[in-house]
Amino acid sequence: MNQPQSWEARAEEYSLYGFTDMPSVHQRGTVVVTHGEGPYVFDVHGRRYLDANSGLWNMVAGFDHRGLIEAAKAQYERFPGYHAFFGRMSDQTVMLSEKLVEVSPFASGKVFYTNSGSEANDTMVKMLWFLHRAEGKPQRRKILTRWNAYHGVTAVSASMTGKPYNEVFGLPLPGFIHLTCPHYWRFGEAGETEAQFVARLARELEDTIAREGADTIAGFFAEPVMGAGGVIPPARGYFQAIQPILRKHGIPLISDEVICGFGRTGQTWGCETYDFIPDAIISSKNLTAGFFPMGAVILGPDLAGRVEAAVEAIEEFPHGFTASGHPVGCAIALKAIDVVMNEGLAENVNRLAPRFEENLRRLAEKPNIGEYRGVGFMWALEAVRDKPTKTPFDATLSVSERIANTCTDLGLICRPLGQSVVLCPPFILTEAQMDEMFGKLEQALDKVFAEVA
Ligand code: PLP
Repeated sequence: MNQPQSWEARAEEYSLYGFTDMPSVHQRGTVVVTHGEGPYVFDVHGRRYLDANSGLWNMVAGFDHRGLIEAAKAQYERFPGYHAFFGRMSDQTVMLSEKLVEVSPFASGKVFYTNSGSEANDTMVKMLWFLHRAEGKPQRRKILTRWNAYHGVTAVSASMTGKPYNEVFGLPLPGFIHLTCPHYWRFGEAGETEAQFVARLARELEDTIAREGADTIAGFFAEPVMGAGGVIPPARGYFQAIQPILRKHGIPLISDEVICGFGRTGQTWGCETYDFIPDAIISSKNLTAGFFPMGAVILGPDLAGRVEAAVEAIEEFPHGFTASGHPVGCAIALKAIDVVMNEGLAENVNRLAPRFEENLRRLAEKPNIGEYRGVGFMWALEAVRDKPTKTPFDATLSVSERIANTCTDLGLICRPLGQSVVLCPPFILTEAQMDEMFGKLEQALDKVFAEVA
């Protein structure tokens, strides 16, 4: 039981929790964290946890990277805050925009800053609505996304998110259309090949555009690998099948790289890993290695040119946040990009990804693991009651939550998502730390499967 003055009791007394199973918190208490070292965090009792969640996918350089801390301190000393309104912006903002276009898959482009991934998606939607109106197509307002997608929590980005829990808010808003999740193992029909599955999803897109009318659709948003949907890489050939359809109908393809961007899939962008060039990229999280709240919309050349022309026509883009392009965030992002790309972090992801997969393949031999899936440093194991029929466990058993809780007790943080357990550690993970992660995970799997079998 929590003591009246314990950190755990104080947390529950005064804080509202986001995305948290409260009965579990009441029973188990809150993990109140004080600091970190490398990929580990420490709680108020001095207990150490290997955070195989990288915080929320974002602390890719670990929790105490000196270079990032020094970059933040130096910028706080130099110029601790500014905005990007009224024809003014910081030198750091100028440099970061140049850098983001340089490392993007685009030959040229333009960048707009936000405080979060949700706001970056909202901003992109508003930009598309603004653009289509300026081009004389004000009816182009509908947004296409997929079931299981996660694009954020603001009213618009939550409407794009394809999760039933948004019903509690009366969302999605009208005009947000969700298509089939491209997860072949789970949604492929009996006897359907992966190629046939992809062809079916392409037909669904064609049919949806025909039904709604291409001239009512503003854009299509997709994560290269769905993250919070349970780490779901696209079925093979998915983006190659849908992009020509979108192009034919003049519908921009927006790649939400909030998780996939900057090395998580092994390359700078998830769209590189899955071999497509979108019309715009949404970035956040890894952009600052989690050291500052920041998001960015990166427009490719076509959208950049068209949005610029639309802005010129009315002389202003009436949108922006007080902290858009914050100089400290920009200085940290410049350092984070350098750290990931030039200090061997992306290399480490590629070097250890085969070892990661080998461990998962071994664990997936257990009778209650239905599938392992992922790429780079983002993977999931999906639990099933019956492997041949892929039948899930009864939801009331909360199997993935039990696995994650057992891991926490063993000093490993991993995330339950649906019936899956997700592993997305910081890119600095060593072989020994990977062995520790899999050793603890296997102990937890064996314990929980023995309980529920
Ligand atoms: N897009 C994706 C793909 C995400 O995974 C997330 C957050 O997890 C978001 C958008 C929302 O970002 P934020 O939580 O910074 O608003």
